[in-house]
Amino acid sequence: MTPRITSFIGNTPLVEFELPFQASSMRLFAKLEMFNPGGSIKDRPAMYMIQRAVADGRITRDSHLVESSSGNLAIAIAMIARQMKLRFTAVIDPNITKTNRALIEAYGAELELVDQKDEEGGYLHSRIRRVRQLLAELPRAVWLNQYANPDNRRSHYEGIGAEIVRDMPIEPSHAFIGVSTCGTIMGVARRLREAWPNIRIIAVDVVGSVIFGSPGAKRRLPGIGASRVPEQLDAHEVDEVVYVTDWESVQGCHRLVREEGVLAGGSSGSIIAALEKIAPRLPPAAVVVTVLPDRGDRYLDSVYHRDWLAQGDRVQQPLHTSHRILAGEAPDLRDAS
Ligand code: PMP
Repeated sequence: MTPRITSFIGNTPLVEFELPFQASSMRLFAKLEMFNPGGSIKDRPAMYMIQRAVADGRITRDSHLVESSSGNLAIAIAMIARQMKLRFTAVIDPNITKTNRALIEAYGAELELVDQKDEEGGYLHSRIRRVRQLLAELPRAVWLNQYANPDNRRSHYEGIGAEIVRDMPIEPSHAFIGVSTCGTIMGVARRLREAWPNIRIIAVDVVGSVIFGSPGAKRRLPGIGASRVPEQLDAHEVDEVVYVTDWESVQGCHRLVREEGVLAGGSSGSIIAALEKIAPRLPPAAVVVTVLPDRGDRYLDSVYHRDWLAQGDRVQQPLHTSHRILAGEAPDLRDAS
């Protein structure tokens, strides 16, 4: 059968970077998720969750998909729903970027804007409440619920995880993975540990995200961090967490494009910033593998915009280096070599 656009989800390139990091001779390999047709890693869980729901009859021809997302997942579902001729409503809030809003609409999805703040002063709970209302109101509504759906992490176990195991030319000692719903880190960590039991799994999170128990604060970059702990997080799967600020992430993005010609999204810059912080502690022979979640085009108004950078109130200034070791038995990154 002639392939359709969704046939090209997955099997993204694995490249090696030459980016030098201070006092380290590490090798760095990166999976470029920007090569997915919807432009991000989220094509994978969107496709997988939809296919599984179709297979077990939760989604039928007249289903109406509903999801709370202002970012890559909404764009991915919008693309797949269009191809499958399914209706899709994305529940969004006023923090959505202009570009993402335009992309979701261009794919033909419906938008449901929630502008009432919840009891915590954000929109997360109001958005979930609106999803539940829509489920009650719309006759054939289906909520995939990326935060709790085990097919989210399974998509990464079978996708990115298996592809890294297949494509790495050398055994990695460390994996650096950005976190939000934690689907990526849960799925990829499991698969990599099965192949390489000594690998250290490092979560990259942003200051202001509550995933690993740090206090919540305002965050600017979409896609990374969360204001609640995702149901699917099993912290035992994560050896360390490295925190970076929005500002540091922006610097990381600029470094990536300057030195490698890779125009990537904000959370890819978070990974580069985290590596820069941790590099001096890595063993000299470290082999790092990472996942860069999306392309930079959709951040031209923010991360790559001179004025946005100049607006000091919108981008936090750098804080002290901060990281936490989660797994009790392994006290330092150096133990992993
Ligand atoms: N970076 C970006 C740009 C993303 O869109 C996402 C997914 N929200 C992530 C990182 C983190 O992935 P996950 O939700 O699987 O933890």
